[in-house]
Amino acid sequence: MFAETLVLDPGWTPVARINWQRAVTLLWEGKVEVIEEYEDRVVRSMTLEIQVPSVIRFLRGHIGRKRAIRFSRQNVFVRDGGRCQYCRARVARPEATYDHVVPRVMGGRTCWENVVIACMACNQRKGGRTPVQARMRLGTLPVKPDRLPGGPSYFLTFQRGMPESWRAYLRDAVASLHYWNDELEQDA
Ligand SMILES: [Zn+2]
Repeated sequence: MFAETLVLDPGWTPVARINWQRAVTLLWEGKVEVIEEYEDRVVRSMTLEIQVPSVIRFLRGHIGRKRAIRFSRQNVFVRDGGRCQYCRARVARPEATYDHVVPRVMGGRTCWENVVIACMACNQRKGGRTPVQARMRLGTLPVKPDRLPGGPSYFLTFQRGMPESWRAYLRDAVASLHYWNDELEQDA
C-alpha cells in the first residue's frame, strides 16, 4: 500500500509529506490530530483498526529544529514587504527585480545584506552603480531576517497526482515555483 500523509503545523501551514507509517506513529504518540483520512485504506493490528490519515496536524510546536530562513527570491521579496526599496512603490512579484546594492562588478556579494527588491524603473535608473553614485536612497538597511512576516518560508503546492484530500490545505501550483523557492547561490 502506498500512501503519503500531508503534515500541517499548528497554524495549518503545510510543512511536510511523510509516509503513512510515520504518520501513524505520530498519531499513536499523541503529537498530531487527524484532519483527513483515506477512506479506502485501513491498517489493522491485532487489537485495532485505523484508517490511514491523509492529512494530519501537529497539536503544538514545529517539526524538528527551527529552520534557518532560506536566502531565496521569494524570501527577499517577503522581507522587503513587496516594495521597491528605493522608491517604496509596491511591486508585483513577477515584476520585481533583485538589485545588488553594491554591484557585483564592484565586489558586491549576493547575500541578504546586499540584495533588495527594486521596481524595474529604479533598477534601470540605478544601473551598475552604488546608491550613492546613483543618488538613490535605500528605504531600509537590508539584513538577514530572524523571521518573516506571513509565516514559514517553505510551502507546498498542490500538484497532479497528489491525493484530492490535500487540495484544500495546499496552495495552487505556481509555474514559477522553483524560480521563487530555489535557494539563491550565496557568496561566501
Ligand atoms: Zn522603485
